[in-house]
Amino acid sequence: MDLYEYQGKQVFGRFGIPVSEGRLAKTPEEARAAAEELGGPVVVKAQVLTGGRGKAGGVKLAHDPADAEAKARDILGLDINGHVVRKLWIEQASDIAKEYYLSITFDRGTKQLLFMLTTEGGVEIEQVADENPDALAHLHVDPLEGFQPYQARRLIYGAGIDDPGEQKQLLGIIEKLYGCFVGSDAMLTEINPLIVTPTGEVRALDSKFTVDDSALFRHPDIAEMRDVEAADPQERLAREKGVTYVKLDGEVGILGNGAGLSMSTVDVVVVAGGRPANFCDLGGGGDAQGVVDALEVITSDDQVRSIFFNIFGGITRCDEVARGILTALDQMKIDLPIVVRLDGTNAEEGRRLLAEAAPPNLHVEPTMLEAARRAVELAA
Ligand code: GDP
Ligand code: MN
Repeated sequence: MDLYEYQGKQVFGRFGIPVSEGRLAKTPEEARAAAEELGGPVVVKAQVLTGGRGKAGGVKLAHDPADAEAKARDILGLDINGHVVRKLWIEQASDIAKEYYLSITFDRGTKQLLFMLTTEGGVEIEQVADENPDALAHLHVDPLEGFQPYQARRLIYGAGIDDPGEQKQLLGIIEKLYGCFVGSDAMLTEINPLIVTPTGEVRALDSKFTVDDSALFRHPDIAEMRDVEAADPQERLAREKGVTYVKLDGEVGILGNGAGLSMSTVDVVVVAGGRPANFCDLGGGGDAQGVVDALEVITSDDQVRSIFFNIFGGITRCDEVARGILTALDQMKIDLPIVVRLDGTNAEEGRRLLAEAAPPNLHVEPTMLEAARRAVELAA
């Protein structure tokens, strides 16, 4: 789960990382009131789950409350990389002398946490990595050994930061960011820019924060931050129904049992010349309710032109899945063509059940590739 900037900063604040004071606003009037409360110049910042807001005109300085209202009017409704701005973060403006960058990610190769620090912040970090790789200090931390203060010193020297005041503050911020990353089961915490003010104060001006979905049950306060309005309507419905579903752009709706088979199904539809409308994993079961739930989610996407069931019976028996499909078709009215490929345990029995019931829009194919081709053909 990705957090908005203001949510990430809220979590930063809880772990003692210095951030600026701010308020959330959803209308120009609220932005004005927020600026009045905060006093002095403010920054009006689009809250969208994408980067590069500054470049897209989503971050603007405002001198006074009337200006904040005007800037809010400009930014609300803006489309930034396909994300429409509905919320603003109004923050006390900072004076900036330097912009640094600090992040922690997973390095899956070494199975360790990876810190990155550079004094070349403010721009996209990929650009620094490409153009000036020596400026980017890397440091691995073994999660089993935990973080040690000497590691922060090594990182700071590695980035070439020699001001004692900055070093002292950075030591604290690096250690706190580690605590924040581990303590919130994050997969990414990034501060860009981490600024130094003209008076030498170091502070987080932005946040990029991803929390491991599988760990959200341990963080109800963070789980609650999820923005249900911003979620795709099908994905929201899927979450409510407990269906594993990812929306894609195509026309062939897909249901597989097991994540691996479902992903292969997405691939094989592409191989057959089609475009998958979604990834959907029925999981181990194949009971009627599971099938009904998945079909409800898939058919609620009106881009879907055909549906492809790709089932491999292991522990789940194909006859059970076939009954599930037939019960689901009884319960709900689906006119879209449905292509079924059943293989594995009790596949013959499953195919026999489908052949006997023979709903007019149901097509049974013997192999995965043939079924994919048929589903693609029927979606055309
Ligand atoms: P991003 O473009 O989505 O990464 O959004 P940021 O929050 O990083 O803001 C983009 C840029 O706006 C920063 O790199 C800063 O240069 C500038 N900016 C943001 N907040 C302030 C502020 O309080 N004062 C000043 N002077 N500039 C700011
Ligand atoms: Mn940024």
